Amino acid sequence: MKRQYKSYQLTLKISEEISIRIGRLGVFNFPAGRYIYTGSAEKNMDQRIARHLRKEKKIHWHIDYLTTHRSVEIIEVRRSEEDECSLNQKTKGRITAPGFGASDCTKACGSHLKYISASVDIKQHQNQEGHFECSAPKESPWENGMRNLKS
Ligand SMILES: [Zn+2]
Repeated sequence: MKRQYKSYQLTLKISEEISIRIGRLGVFNFPAGRYIYTGSAEKNMDQRIARHLRKEKKIHWHIDYLTTHRSVEIIEVRRSEEDECSLNQKTKGRITAPGFGASDCTKACGSHLKYISASVDIKQHQNQEGHFECSAPKESPWENGMRNLKS
C-alpha cells in the first residue's frame, strides 16, 4: 500500500540568535535553538523538500528566509499523512513569528513555525524535554525519515 503523504515537518537548528525580515510579515527575532516548520505538499513532496534543503534559491515562501540564512540548518525531515494544520497544532512550541508560513492556513494555527527548544543538541533535547516523543502519536504516521543531512 502506498502511503499518501500530505504534509511534512522540517526541524531547523538556528545556531545563534538572529533578527531577520520575513518579507511583508516584518522583522522578527529568532533565538538560538530548534524549530519545527510544518508545510504541505500533496504533489511533488520530494522536490519541495529538496528545494528546502538548497541554500541557493529565489525567496518564495516565508521559510526561504530562514533556510537560506547561514546560521540556519535543516537537521531533520519528516513526512506525514496528516493534514498540515492538525500536525502543526500537535506540535508543542512557542510562536516567535506570528503568521509565519500560515498565509494559507484556515485553522487559526497562528504560525506554522514553532520554537520547540533552546537546545541545539538533539540528545539533550530528547532527554530533557521529550517534545519529540509527544509530538508524534503512538500509531505514528511518520515514515522513518530521519536523515542526517550533515554527512
Ligand atoms: Zn494551520
